[in-house]
Amino acid sequence: MREIDGRTRTCGLLGCPVEHTLSPVIHTALSEITGINLAYLPFRVEKEALGDAVQGAHALNILGLNVTVPHKERVLPFLDGIDPLAERIGAVNTLVRTERGYRGYNTDMPGLYRAMVSDGVQVDKESVIILGAGGVARAVAFMLADRAEKIVLLNRTVEKAAAIAQEVNAFTGRETTSAMPISDYGKLAGGGYIAIQATNVGMYPDMDSVVISDKAFYEKVKIGYDLIFNPADTLFMRKVREAGGLSYNGLKMLLYQGIIAYELWNNVKITEEQALWVYDRLKERI
Ligand code: NAP
Repeated sequence: MREIDGRTRTCGLLGCPVEHTLSPVIHTALSEITGINLAYLPFRVEKEALGDAVQGAHALNILGLNVTVPHKERVLPFLDGIDPLAERIGAVNTLVRTERGYRGYNTDMPGLYRAMVSDGVQVDKESVIILGAGGVARAVAFMLADRAEKIVLLNRTVEKAAAIAQEVNAFTGRETTSAMPISDYGKLAGGGYIAIQATNVGMYPDMDSVVISDKAFYEKVKIGYDLIFNPADTLFMRKVREAGGLSYNGLKMLLYQGIIAYELWNNVKITEEQALWVYDRLKERI
């Protein structure tokens, strides 16, 4: 890490908890490779203190912030404007300083898209399964809505998946997104799907769990993308490979959401070569 001096700009993370975050690794490595004089710090902020934290950060001349659980939706009323993509998703993870406050962005979804491009995964005109219907699954569905041929959301609580499908179809004006209970996976038509695993199942320390264990499901999947990055190789990913498919974890999504935030704060473009150097630093840490 470079020396802090009177010109060092500050960025940071607002969340609760923040103790296990990998974001400082990403931003410190980015500043090392670009030579930008920037320090990145985690700030543990309780729910009731969020408005004060955002206002105080602006008063302290903080350049930009990331926002994580449980503040991604709650922060919206404290912003001076919101990017259209973040507005569509209904959640922000990045705040960029303006004269009067902070403008909100969502870099999680472009981050996932850039990760897929970097991994050579093409989603345009493909059939996609999304496992889960939480905050991230909803954002993934919106991100893919204009690109995929069809999207099927499978969730334990089917009502949540149905609500997302309805919203996405209303947004695109096409009936390409549908929902089903996760237990009905046997009814999925055809094969060759890209499956995006967006539930918490299989996350450390619950590493022997998987949301669907039946081999017949994985035979319909050509590419499995697990948004979990700890562990780096989940049971879902292993099952995809055992059935002959390709598998990826969520670490590159984490990397690129950070890179896009860094680009917004500093008005720079990070090359793929620089990104992969930071990715290696990140892999060393998990
Ligand atoms: P969330 O809003 O809490 O949603 C959790 C989802 O998991 C829901 O659909 C829930 O189903 C499902 N689920 C939980 N336990 C289940 C179980 N035992 N069986 C079946 N389904 C279960 O979480 P989120 O914020 O969307 O995050 C989802 C995942 O994305 C997490 O694993 C997180 O690590 C990952 N993520 C990755 C990145 C990255 O940068 N790579 C960034 C953000 C999040 P119900 O609706 O039925 O409860």
